Amino acid sequence: MRLITFTASGTTRIGVLDGEGVVDLQAAAPDLPTEMVAFLEAGDAALEGARAALDAGGSRLALTDVSLESPILRPPKILAVGLNYADHVAEAGMETPKFPMIFNKQSTAAHPPHAPFHLPRASGALDYEGELAMVIGKRCRHVPKERAHEVIAGFMICNDVSVRDWQIRVPTFTMGKSFDTHCPLGPALVTSDEVPDPHSLDVRTWVNGELRQSSNTKHLIFDCHTLIEHLSTAFTLEPGDVIPTGTPGGVGAVMKPPKFLVAGDVVKIAISGLGEIENSVIAEPESTARIG
Ligand code: ZN
Repeated sequence: MRLITFTASGTTRIGVLDGEGVVDLQAAAPDLPTEMVAFLEAGDAALEGARAALDAGGSRLALTDVSLESPILRPPKILAVGLNYADHVAEAGMETPKFPMIFNKQSTAAHPPHAPFHLPRASGALDYEGELAMVIGKRCRHVPKERAHEVIAGFMICNDVSVRDWQIRVPTFTMGKSFDTHCPLGPALVTSDEVPDPHSLDVRTWVNGELRQSSNTKHLIFDCHTLIEHLSTAFTLEPGDVIPTGTPGGVGAVMKPPKFLVAGDVVKIAISGLGEIENSVIAEPESTARIG
């Protein structure tokens, strides 16, 4: 199933994509939670309820009449991985890491799959990173990699948007990876049963139609299951946690000269079987400043 979060008629809720149609679960299965994290926490029974609503073949909203939101509006955690493709390690001039280089993106960075993201007032060193993201479906700890597939609800596309100067001028990535709007996700949470092998997916990124990244998840240094084993050694993973798995070579920062994103650029990322996300870049609006 392709689970989405969408806004229509002034309310935001979850649904299932069916071609160009949307099964509105609030209408088709009113007993189910209407928010994705609560839906995932409800486990297999909720998934079966959504499947039944999809199979029942009732009325559909037109995809063109809804606004897609981040499939998970406010992930409990976003745990990303640096330097997880050999060609990206090489272009960054770094050593291959011995351990996964985990960093957080703040959950407030989660952003819709087609909405513009911000060129910050604070920096012009704006860059893209096309990535496969896992979504956790079960509360878990100490998961051996052989069983990690059991805790993955599904997969989606992530643009790990990065503010390079803020990322590297101090020893931790947190600030440079967490600006508001800098984690476009989607377009749907594709459930694991539709992604039989997450380690054979093409990942491609275009900027203004120019192909910048083209790789395959078979080149991951630490694969999805190893990452879950590693993360869950330290802390509990929860339904709705998002784990972007790292970006392949071809980011703008390492080009000579660097090609940072500017307002008006359009970044598109496609992954086999997951669809595509496409976001333009806009100057951060004055209206972001607020107190209260
Ligand atoms: Zn990344």
